[in-house]
Formats: sequence, structure tokens, C-alpha cells
Amino acid sequence: MALAAPVAVTFLGGLGEIGRNCAVLETAGRRVLLDCGRMFAGDELPGVESVIPDFRWLLESGGPSGAVEACVATHAHEDHIGALPHLLERLPTLTLPVYGSAFTLGLIHHKLSEAGLLDRAELREVGDGDRFAVGPFECEVMPVTHSVPGGLITAFTTPQGVILHSSDFKLDLTPVDGRRTALSRIGALAHNPGIRLLLADSTNADAPGSSRSETDVGAVLREAIAQQAGRRVIVGAFASHIHRIQQVIEAASATGRTVATLGRSMQRNVALARELGLLQIPSHCLCDISDLQDLPAEQVLIVCTGSQGEPFAALTQMAEGTNKWIDINDTDTVIFSSHPIPGNEAAVAALRNGLARQGARVLHTGNLDVHTTGHGQRQELKVLHSVASPEWFVPVHGEYSHLVAHANLARDMGMTTDRVLLCCDGDLIELSDDGLRHVDSVGGAHVYVDGTVGDLGSQVLTERRKLGADGFVAVFAVVDTDQGILISGPQIRTHGWVEEPALQSHLAAIGDAVQKELNSALAAGETDRKALEDLMTSTARRTSRERTRRKPVIAAVIGGT
Ligand SMILES: [Zn+2]
Ligand SMILES: [Zn+2]
Repeated sequence: MALAAPVAVTFLGGLGEIGRNCAVLETAGRRVLLDCGRMFAGDELPGVESVIPDFRWLLESGGPSGAVEACVATHAHEDHIGALPHLLERLPTLTLPVYGSAFTLGLIHHKLSEAGLLDRAELREVGDGDRFAVGPFECEVMPVTHSVPGGLITAFTTPQGVILHSSDFKLDLTPVDGRRTALSRIGALAHNPGIRLLLADSTNADAPGSSRSETDVGAVLREAIAQQAGRRVIVGAFASHIHRIQQVIEAASATGRTVATLGRSMQRNVALARELGLLQIPSHCLCDISDLQDLPAEQVLIVCTGSQGEPFAALTQMAEGTNKWIDINDTDTVIFSSHPIPGNEAAVAALRNGLARQGARVLHTGNLDVHTTGHGQRQELKVLHSVASPEWFVPVHGEYSHLVAHANLARDMGMTTDRVLLCCDGDLIELSDDGLRHVDSVGGAHVYVDGTVGDLGSQVLTERRKLGADGFVAVFAVVDTDQGILISGPQIRTHGWVEEPALQSHLAAIGDAVQKELNSALAAGETDRKALEDLMTSTARRTSRERTRRKPVIAAVIGGT
């Protein structure tokens, strides 16, 4: 029997971290991207906005288009679509067909148009049950329940059989829009032709039981909002969580409140979701924030961004007392209808404290069940494995411990150890007639980006950390190298190094030491400015270390005649 062409899957991100999900499906040198996400940077990466996949391997092995023929975007979360502008910037000849649901494409459209890259993509809308050719494969998309509308499970028919990707998924039997995860279709595929390889979300692989239904959260919100008689209510939620927003608005409406949205992404997403018919709200329930000022507090509800403590977002401004529209006081109730994303816990705690200090009553997941996860827990994962009964399995979308927990769960479900492959960022695996094997590690590096400008190297980050920890010292001197004399200086300026009054004696010590070293080097006939600057730097560094035990970033500059 003739051998079928092998199919490779390369994970450029998302395996070993929550964020920057991006996989490359490839056969015969033709590639399709499955998602292209970014990861939010924490405090350990000062000044870094995002961490994105390293696309260099695509370029090096596939030429200026990366041999990428299309991208399928499973849903509209940033960890799945946020790096698309960066991909297009780095692959200069790529014009990319991007497949996704209407809501996903709506957010991608905005993202690419902000980056001036709309002409580099063709957005192709697909709906539940659609089958279409994508690069060398056929792709079938099916509904999945998650914390954003329009999520899609993808089944790729390849020369090596069906590769099923779960997308970010949960099994919610009572979702707000009634659109349940397509277990029956997955079961049908499992029966015929069978699922050769399953890639599945591991985010909650170590959380026991099942996640709560989104509509259960709606009931809690309705009751909580009903209890806030005489008070203004402010709800912080993810701007893409349209079903949560729908339930908040329904709860407001049931208690006679008019709703205004606050925060640009909230306003944009609500408008998009209404336009697409995903958000069902009678227009009289919504008004502009500027019109709320005339209404009494108990008739008002504001749904806003910033529940993750993001700087400049609406809730953060309220906590700081700088929001243009809302001054928090002791008749306000603020509900955090979200859970901190890992890494944001400290910022969210600071935000809650800030709001409490302004007098607000604060409700959050610590004191009320006002949120549920969008990712299936162990029981749900077991149902997926049971229905899909894949031949091979790779856990994806999770920190390393989540991937391990998911691999163990697959074994608990009866898969043999050799059928479960634990992979990391950068791993290239190949599915052939002989089965699935690890082939190479090609490009799992983190690439740091700051706004829309290019990469930030690790040297910049090291310096930023040093600046943050130990400050900055600049040393200036003017010399006459012909005569071998110091004309003026050294002058010293510092930022964030040592507090007054100790500063003055340390400055004098550095000045004396640098002057002495410069004079002796000049007297010995040193004329090279770079050598003199290096001497000033090392002297200042040594003196700082001896006197303060600090290692500031030091800049030394020689001026001359
Ligand atoms: Zn997601
Ligand atoms: Zn995700």
C-alpha cells in the first residue's frame, strides 16, 4: 500500500504557558496556521507590552511568505489572534486568508486596521458546520462553548487522517446563546473516519469536577444586583465576554436600571455584537454614559473594562479618582465579574483596595460566585476524550503542569503512554503511517514587543531591570588629550540611585575616584576616549559597589577639545 504523506505540527507557542497560542500544520511544504496569539507580559518584563511567537523559523524554512497559505482563528481572544499584526509585519510577502467566525473576524478587522495592515489579509467568514479547503487540508468548523461568542472547534482532514483541535472549550449544557460544544459531531467523526490526533485545551486539567454554567453566573448576578437597592452598580467584565455582558444588562433591566458601557473596547465589542445579533438588548436599556448623569444612582448600572487592573482602563481610573465620568463614593457597589488572569493578581488586589478606599462596596469571586471559567475542568476533559477517542493525543494550551495533568488524564482514560506526546513550545512533531513522533525543536523562543515597534532584545530588558532595581548614574568629564589634562569634571548625575542626604558624600567619593583615575591615565599618555570612558565606568561602578552595594546602570561620557 502506498504511503500517505506525513503531516507535521509545530507549536510556536501556548505549550508551557497560558498565551501566544500558535500552531503550524504542514504537509509537503505547505503550511496553515492554527491561531496566532500573544501573551500579556508581567511585571518581570518592564515596558514589554506583549510576548509573541518567534516567527523566524517560518521565514528561514519557508521563505518570505513563510510558506503559510492561511490562518484559521479559533476565537477572538488575544491569546489566539493578538499576534496577527506582528506576523504580517515580519513575513513581508504574505497576504493571509484568515478564517474565523463573524465575531472573531470583527475583532481581527479592528486590530489589523489599527496596525494599517488590513490590505495584507483576506478575512473569510465561516459558520458552524462549514467545510472548506484551507491550504493543503480540508477544515470543518463546529461550535464550542467558551467565554467569547463564535468559538470554533476545527477538524482538519489531512493525508494522515483527522486532526481535531478542541479550541478553548468547556461543556456548558445551558449556555446563554444555546450554542453547545459539538460533542455529537465529534462523536460522529470519531466513529467515521476516526480521529487520528487530538489537540486539546489543558488550562483546567488539574481542576476537579466540572465548570459552572454561564447561566448560573447570570442568576447570581441578578440576585446580587437586585440587592443593591438605592445604590449605583458598576460591573467590571472582559470586553469580549458578550454573554456575561448580556446577563449583566438583563439583570440591570429587571431591576429598572439603565445601562451605559465604559471603556473603548467594551463600547466597540458591544456595538459589534449588537450588529451581529449576538447581543440581544432592547435599545431603551442602553444609553450613553453622558446621559446617565441625570438619573438617580439606583437607576444606573455601568459595565466597564479594567477588571484585570489594566493601567488607564475605566475601573483603574475610578480607583484612582481620575475617571472623567464616575467618582466612586459610599453609595456605589462594584462587582468584579471576572477572575484575575495569572500574573494580574497583585494589580487586581490593588484595584479592589483602591475602590474600597473610595468607599465602594466590592463584590468579587472571593465573596460571591460572580464568575465562571471558560475552560473545561477534569470531568469535561474526560467527556471530550471519551467522545473523541483519539488514536494519538497532545495536550495543548496550558502551563507545563497543566499539560502533564492532561497527559495523565488521557492515560487514566485508557490511552497508552506511547500514544500521548507531551510537547513544549517549539516542538515539531510528525504524524505518519508509523504514528506520531517528535522530530525537532525549532522556534519556541519568546519575542518581546513594545507597542507596535519591533522586537525588544534581552539586553534592553536586563538594563530595564537593573534601572528599576538600582538606578542610573551618569559621569561626564572634559579632557584635552593633546596636553594630557582633565579640563573639567567629572560631573555626576543620578536617577533612582541613592536618597539624599547620603547622596552627596557618595557623589563626592565617585567624583574623587574618577578624577584620580583619569588624571593618572592621562599622565600615562592615554588618548583613546573609549578607553577613558571605560575607565570612568569601571571606577564609578567599583565605588558604588563599595559604598552602597548597588549596581546602577552607568553611562560615562568624555567631551574634549
Ligand atoms: Zn479563549
Ligand atoms: Zn486561550
